[in-house]
Amino acid sequence: MAQPTCPCGSTRFELHEEDIEGATYTLAVIRCASCGLPIGALESENVGDLAADLSRKIDAQGRQIAAMAAEVSELKTKLVSISHLMGLIEGKMK
Ligand SMILES: [Zn+2]
Repeated sequence: MAQPTCPCGSTRFELHEEDIEGATYTLAVIRCASCGLPIGALESENVGDLAADLSRKIDAQGRQIAAMAAEVSELKTKLVSISHLMGLIEGKMK
């Protein structure tokens, strides 16, 4: 496999975050480690990592919503019991 070589002769490259005028996000520029000649650019954020992070957050929120739904269901059961007891008390007071 051929080794990439910069026109200056260097075979070492580095990532450098670059603010490009007009770009709405930061780019990671692959450039020659010796002379700085850019040879490519990547999004500085890894989309796969972002998607995995969002997936974890959505899963956590789903678990929180399920826990809240269980609490609401428990409250509903308790309210029905209280309502039933109130009916019994009202019946005895008549
Ligand atoms: Zn170079």
